[in-house]
Amino acid sequence: MSKKLKKRIKRVVIGAVVYLAAVLFQRIFGTLQWFCHLTVFLAAYLIIGGDVVKNALRNMGKGQIFDENFLMTIATVGAFFVGDYPEAVAVMLFYQVGECFQSYAVGKSRKSITALMDIRPDYANVFREGEWVEADPDEVLVGDSILVRPGERIPLDGVIEKGNSSLDTMALTGESIPRDVSEGDEVISGCVNKNGVLEITVSKPYGESTVARILDLVENASSKKAKAENFITKFAKYYTPVVVICAALLAVIPPLLLGGGWSDWIYRALSFLVISCPCALVISIPLSFFGGLGGASKEGILIKGSNYLEALADTEVVVMDKTGTLTKGNFAVSKAVLSKEAKENGIVPVKAEDISEKAEAGSTEAGSTEASGTEAVLLQLAAYAESFSNHPISKSLLVAYGKTVDTSLITNAEEIAGHGVVVKIGNREILAGNEKLLTSRGIAFEEADEAGTLIYVAEGNCYLGYILIEDEIKQDAAKAIKDLKESGVKKIVMLTGDHRKVAKKVAETLSLTSYYAELLPGDKVSKVEELFAEKSAKGKLAFVGDGINDAPVLARADIGIAMGGLGSDAAIEAADVVIMTDEPSKLARAMKISRKTLVIVKQNIVFAIGIKVLVLLLAAAGMASMWAAVFADVGVAVIAILNAMRALKA
Ligand code: ADP
Ligand code: MG
Repeated sequence: MSKKLKKRIKRVVIGAVVYLAAVLFQRIFGTLQWFCHLTVFLAAYLIIGGDVVKNALRNMGKGQIFDENFLMTIATVGAFFVGDYPEAVAVMLFYQVGECFQSYAVGKSRKSITALMDIRPDYANVFREGEWVEADPDEVLVGDSILVRPGERIPLDGVIEKGNSSLDTMALTGESIPRDVSEGDEVISGCVNKNGVLEITVSKPYGESTVARILDLVENASSKKAKAENFITKFAKYYTPVVVICAALLAVIPPLLLGGGWSDWIYRALSFLVISCPCALVISIPLSFFGGLGGASKEGILIKGSNYLEALADTEVVVMDKTGTLTKGNFAVSKAVLSKEAKENGIVPVKAEDISEKAEAGSTEAGSTEASGTEAVLLQLAAYAESFSNHPISKSLLVAYGKTVDTSLITNAEEIAGHGVVVKIGNREILAGNEKLLTSRGIAFEEADEAGTLIYVAEGNCYLGYILIEDEIKQDAAKAIKDLKESGVKKIVMLTGDHRKVAKKVAETLSLTSYYAELLPGDKVSKVEELFAEKSAKGKLAFVGDGINDAPVLARADIGIAMGGLGSDAAIEAADVVIMTDEPSKLARAMKISRKTLVIVKQNIVFAIGIKVLVLLLAAAGMASMWAAVFADVGVAVIAILNAMRALKA
C-alpha cells in the first residue's frame, strides 16, 4: 500500500470518529444554536474531505470544472446549505472510503500485472580489477564478462563463455519447460539461470537488450488507446456536463412550476451531481485492456497497444510467411550436386591466398582442408557467400558447413532480398541464391527437379552446382491453422519467396486456403493489398512473419505479428504484436484473449452506464438519497474493477 493511501485512510478514520462524535453531540445537545452543530460537523467534514475541496479549487483554477472533486464539493457544500449537515459529511465519508478502496484495488491490480513483467535485472556480476563485483546492468559494457549464479536472472544478452545450465524462460515466453544451454550458446536477458554457474560475454548494451526492449514495449502499450477507451473518454466528457445541467434544471424548474419545496428539489439535484461522477467507467475500461495486455504477455504474446488487442478480435484474413513462421527455418542440407562444368573443370576452395595481403601474411588456414572439386567445396563456397546474412537459409548452411568461416577474407558482401547473396573474396565473386538470382545475372544453369528449397551456387559467370535444403513444418502449425479456422478466420493465406513446389507441399499439408510462391518482398506487399480489397470493411487483416524479408508487409497489415521475438531485432521493431515463443498457434490464443477482454469491456460499459441511468431516474423521483448515489458510484467502480481483473486470467 502506498504511503499516500495510508495517510488518506488515517484521515478518513479520524474524520469518521469526529463525525460520530458530532452526531452524538447533536443528539445530546439538540437544543443548542444551529451554528454549534455546524461547527462540529464542519470540523469532521474538513478532516475527511479537506483534500477533495482543495483539489477542486486547484483544478478549477486550471479550468477543469467537471472533475469529480468539484462535483463532490458542490454536492456536499450544497447539503450543508440545505441544512443536512450529517448527510453532507456522510456522503463525503462514503466517497472517501470508496476512493481509498479504488486506489487500493487499482494499485494492487497494476502491481500484479507488472509483477508478471518483473524481468528487470537489479544487478550484474562483472569482472573488474581481478574480482567479481555487482554493477548496475546499465554500466556493463559490450565484451565484458558477467557471472550468473544459479537462481539469478541473466541481466544482459550475451554468449556463454563457460559453463552449462538450464534456463527458465517462463517470464518471457510463458513456456514452462526449461531450455538447456551450454558453451557458445546465445542467451537473452530476463531468463532465470536454474542450476549451473554461467560466465557470459555481453553482446549488447543494456538499453538494447531483450529485457529493456520488452519492458519498453509493455510500458508504452497502454498509451495506444483502443476505440472503446476513446469512446469512454468522450462519453465522460459529455455525460458529466449534461447531468450537471440537468441537476441545475431539476433544482430550479420544478419548484418554480409547482411552487415551493425548494430544499427537496435542491437535494435531488445534489444527488444528481454525485451521480455525474464518471469514475467507474474511466477507471475500469483502461484497466480491462491493461489486464488483457498483461494476460497475453504472461503467455509470451507481447501486444504493443490496446488498439491492436481490440483489433485482433475482428481478424478475418490471416496471411502467413512460410519460412520461420509455418516452418522451423532450420534447413537441413540433404544433398549437394555439382554442375557438369564443375565436375569437369573442378572448383577451387576459398583460400587465404585469394586476397593478396593475407597471402603475404602467410596464413593458409582457411579452406586448406578442402580437396578441390568436391561437393564439400561447393558447401564451403556457399558458406562463405552466406556468412554475412541473417536469413534462416544462411544460418542453416553455416551450421551444415560446420567449420569456421574466416570473414576477414570477404572484401565485399551484398544481400539481395528474395534472391540471395553475392560476396567478393579478392578477385573472386561468389553467388548463392535461387534461380532468380542466376537469371538476373545472366548465368546459364540447368534448373534441378527437386522437391525442396534449392540454393544455386556460382562463381563469376560460371554455374557450379546446387545445394538441396529441406525445412520442417513446425509442430504446432497444423493446430494453429485449425484453431484459426475455428475462431472464425475466413482466409488463411501463405506468402513465400520460396519455390512453388515447396510452397505447394506446405500449403497442402496444412490445408491453407491458398498460397502464393516465388514472391519478392515487394510482391508480398501487393498481394496483401489485393487481399485487403477482398475482405469486408470491418474485418482485419493480420500478417504473421519473422521480419526477415517481410518487414514491409508487417508494417502494411492491420496487425503485424512477428514470430521469434527471442532475438530477432527487426521483428520487434516492425511488428504490432510479438510472439516470443515462435509458435503460430499463439495467434489464435491472442484472438481469444482479445475477445474475452472485449466482452469484459462491454460488460463494464453496459453495467456502469445502466446503473447510473437507473440511479439518476430514482434520484429525480426523489427515491434515491445522496447516500444511495455515492454508494452506486463507488459500488459500480469496485465491481467493474474486479471484473476487469478477470481479463488478466487467461
Ligand atoms: P520466405 O518468404 O519463405 O520467408 P524469403 O523472401 O526470405 O522467403 O526468401 C525467398 C527466397 O529467396 C528463398 O527461398 C531463397 O531461395 C532466396 N534467398 C533469400 N535470401 C537468401 C539468402 N540469404 N541465401 C540464399 N537464398 C536466399
Ligand atoms: Mg521470411
